[in-house]
Amino acid sequence: MILRMSSLFLRTLREDPADAEVPSHKLLVRAGYIRRTAPGIYTWLPLGLRVLRNVERIVREEMDAIGAQELVFPALLPREPYEATGRWTEYGPNIFRLKDRKGADMLLGPTHEEMFTLVVKELYSSYKDLPLSIYQIQNKYRDEARPRAGVLRGREFVMKDSYSFDVDDEGLAASYELHREAYIKIFDRLGFDYVIVKAMSGAMGGSRSEEFLAIAENGEDTFVRSAGGYAANVEAVVVPQAAPVDASGVPAAEVVDTPDTPTIETLVDAMNAKHARTDGREWTAADTLKNVLVMLVHPDGSREPLAIGVPGDRAIDEKRLGAQVEPAEVVAFEESDFEKFPSLAKGYIGPGVLGSENTSGIRYLLDPRIAEGSAWVTGADRSGFHVMNLVHGRDFTADGTIQAAEVRDGDEAPDGSGPLESARGIEMGHIFQLGRKYADALDLKVLDQNGKLVTVTMGSYGVGVTRAVAAIAEGNHDELGLIWPREISPADVHLVATGKDSEVFEKAAELAAELEARGLSVIYDDREKVSPGVKFKDAELLGVPTIAVVGKGLADGTIEVKDRRSGDRADIPVAEVVDHLVTTVRG
Ligand code: ATP
Ligand code: MG
Repeated sequence: MILRMSSLFLRTLREDPADAEVPSHKLLVRAGYIRRTAPGIYTWLPLGLRVLRNVERIVREEMDAIGAQELVFPALLPREPYEATGRWTEYGPNIFRLKDRKGADMLLGPTHEEMFTLVVKELYSSYKDLPLSIYQIQNKYRDEARPRAGVLRGREFVMKDSYSFDVDDEGLAASYELHREAYIKIFDRLGFDYVIVKAMSGAMGGSRSEEFLAIAENGEDTFVRSAGGYAANVEAVVVPQAAPVDASGVPAAEVVDTPDTPTIETLVDAMNAKHARTDGREWTAADTLKNVLVMLVHPDGSREPLAIGVPGDRAIDEKRLGAQVEPAEVVAFEESDFEKFPSLAKGYIGPGVLGSENTSGIRYLLDPRIAEGSAWVTGADRSGFHVMNLVHGRDFTADGTIQAAEVRDGDEAPDGSGPLESARGIEMGHIFQLGRKYADALDLKVLDQNGKLVTVTMGSYGVGVTRAVAAIAEGNHDELGLIWPREISPADVHLVATGKDSEVFEKAAELAAELEARGLSVIYDDREKVSPGVKFKDAELLGVPTIAVVGKGLADGTIEVKDRRSGDRADIPVAEVVDHLVTTVRG
């Protein structure tokens, strides 16, 4: 394959696109790989499509290698199956919905659990047919609230999704393990620096769940890990419930006058100034119980207030909270909401009015760090007043606990394997054991060995294919442009002919043909009347890992070969250059 720059459908740009913030987005647009069609919706130009196909090929090869079989569903789907599993409602505004001419509801598939479950139900009926793993590589549609960074978070994107079907839990565990190993091979081949972390199973339900995160500063996900081997998406960290403490020595709760102290900082200062502790140490934010109000908006549009009690030195982590209340969305508790709950004294809210059994009736959930028997300074539900020595279990109770407080660097890992350290990543793949949720909802049963009907258990496994292109670019570039890993690159060699000499162009054309004959793909810059400077800039921007220059050296019988990543260059005798390039590419 030879792509001649003189006719290749490509225009590189010198300027970054105005809407691009992260390097991968800027470079993929500038290098002519993708073009924006609408927010979060992109066109793949010839070079981009070649890169995309390379990622697909790697994913396909590794899926095929574990015996998964490829099929493809429509993206345009009927409502009914999604209604049966509740997801027509649960997905809320994230689904693209439409009506056909007869007024029937349709959707563009955001993910296809329902369709896979149904097709297996239609065709299979016995344990002898299982295990089965089937997959597709297909466009998905999600009306994301914040499409971002080009194809990193799109509203139309390509996903590989596979689903496993087993009769029992051991079977599911084995199918999951097979996928996990295939994913390790996929992400190794894609050249990612990645981590496998514990994950939430999100809107899909289910049990064991892990994500493959490409480590990247610009990633939207935060993960934590310990030296002892714990690794989790911060959303999935389960802080253990603090053990009860003895409260027998704690004096009775006492309301104290703390004027103008609506914040934790002002409260701590006032407490130290007016109500000093008797044990000689100072009050700190960690001694206070902060009660935060938020509003949950459920998929059906209904609103529910929620109060969360956390130690005053910790913030609520929006992502952790969001993951806990999914599919509801979290929005701010507005001034107008306060008006509906007159028992709430803004800035001085305490457990005295919170809880479904209490005056406000607002559901009240506590951070698990709040031990039974622990004593707190917290709001007294009167403007300007707090209460001290308020003991959990003695003086107040809540409706339960919630994993919503921030997890900080240095916190002990939940499994005791050492202090946690956080970093950011891009979710590239997600594998999880769905269990029987979809099979139950859609009644997928098979006959087991004893002729008894049993519900099938399922796994679901996704790879973000278009996202992978962006994430690879994010991890493989410099100030000059992209630097593709070999298996992903749109071509094996970028061959540049420089100068005006017809001899140069003849030699370069000959080389391109020889490389093609040896099975390499070549981008050949055969443009006449384009300066060497422009050609080199384009070669660096496009990011093919090996660049060969036919130019000045030809007079001495050499061709310059450059490594785009290391910048190393060597003059190779003309007679050897084809072999040299084939060896370089094949490794
Ligand atoms: P995220 O948390 O990033 O929104 P998700 O957890 O909703 O992703 P899954 O439903 O697990 O995504 O989808 C499987 C894979 O599809 C993800 O691991 C990711 O690589 C990819 N993916 C999901 N949403 C998008 C999107 N909007 N654009 C591109 N790729 C996506
Ligand atoms: Mg996911």
